[in-house]
Amino acid sequence: MDGIYLDHSATTPVRSEVVEAMLPLYGTSFGNPSSIHYYGQQAKAALDKSRDIVAESIGGEPSEITFTGSGTEADNLAIVGAILASPPSRRHIITTAVEHDAVRKTVAYLSELGCRVTVLPVDIDGIVTAQEVEDAIREDTLLISVMHGNNEVGTIEPIGAISKVGHRHGVLIHTDAVQTFGQLSVDVNELDVDLLTLSAHKIYGPKGVGALYVRRGTPILPEILGGGQERGRRSGTENVAGIVGFAAAVSLMLPERAQMAARMTDMRDRFIARVIESIPASFLNGPTGERRLPNNINFSFENIEGEALLLNLDIAGIYASSGSACSSGSIEPSHVLIAMGIETSKNRGAIRLTLGRETTEAQLDSAFNVLKETTTRLRSMSAHSFR
Ligand SMILES: *Cc1c(COP(=O)(O)O)cnc(C)c1O
Repeated sequence: MDGIYLDHSATTPVRSEVVEAMLPLYGTSFGNPSSIHYYGQQAKAALDKSRDIVAESIGGEPSEITFTGSGTEADNLAIVGAILASPPSRRHIITTAVEHDAVRKTVAYLSELGCRVTVLPVDIDGIVTAQEVEDAIREDTLLISVMHGNNEVGTIEPIGAISKVGHRHGVLIHTDAVQTFGQLSVDVNELDVDLLTLSAHKIYGPKGVGALYVRRGTPILPEILGGGQERGRRSGTENVAGIVGFAAAVSLMLPERAQMAARMTDMRDRFIARVIESIPASFLNGPTGERRLPNNINFSFENIEGEALLLNLDIAGIYASSGSACSSGSIEPSHVLIAMGIETSKNRGAIRLTLGRETTEAQLDSAFNVLKETTTRLRSMSAHSFR
């Protein structure tokens, strides 16, 4: 690849083995899994096998997996689906101020439609505690939705502890594990969750495929109605090729996940230490050590516009990101950094570098050199214009 791709939390390159696994589904194995005949059975077998693989990878049962058209759709289905299945007297949702927009905007929408919502604040590292969640639980609380790993600053939330208090009060637990799945062990029983979101394209699979884990017995109603696919939870002919690609990506990822995470953690910490040591007025956003996703680096540079920095890095062939990949392409202040109490001047200068399985020490050396050179140059230019 030309340049250095350091935006793996936005998306990952599709592995060649994944493409290989998907191709037959676009060729001779084109059947509709709902058809009775040979072609249908073939597609159904591929779908079933994929469901088994995804279910097993998180310690769930195949019947507890609903394939969706994205991680976003899985988040929507978890939250809206639980609300649709609830009595009006139970429509209180607890969430945090640092959720992905797929949760944040969905909860805000439900709030406009009459649901009651508590958005919990976080500390300077982006963490919400189980105690804070418990304090917010009320008589009418139906659902707690807290992400497992934060896509902007890498914070890993204490989901196990949150589930424990939630369940003690008979409240459903949803977590968005899109960012953690490729880096940490994600087990629905260890995390003790009722609903859990995954997305294929963050683990070297195809875009446009997600999954929602729904623990058996969890009351949830569909948002998309039609032919009754996915046990009636999500109608529409399944994206068989995408789902097969998702399962292939899972199978490839599992045996290497722990080793990859350890390698990325080392590279991450060396890079962070280097920046802090040699670029003046640089600030790490988010936690350090085990509370941080192995692949996440997020820095603010005082008196530097994040957008200018990113454009200059892009020209130099370093592909990074502002904290959030916004569809508009323009950078708005990050709701995550605002929630963490990061002041506006630093918020505007934040950039995120997220490592992947092919990231090398040599690439990070180059990225560091470009970053140092660029921050120095941008600062000298702005000092100039003030004279
Ligand atoms: C990328 C992402 C999503 C959305 O997944 P899509 O498949 O792109 O819709 C949701 N949550 C988190 C934390 C993400 O990083």
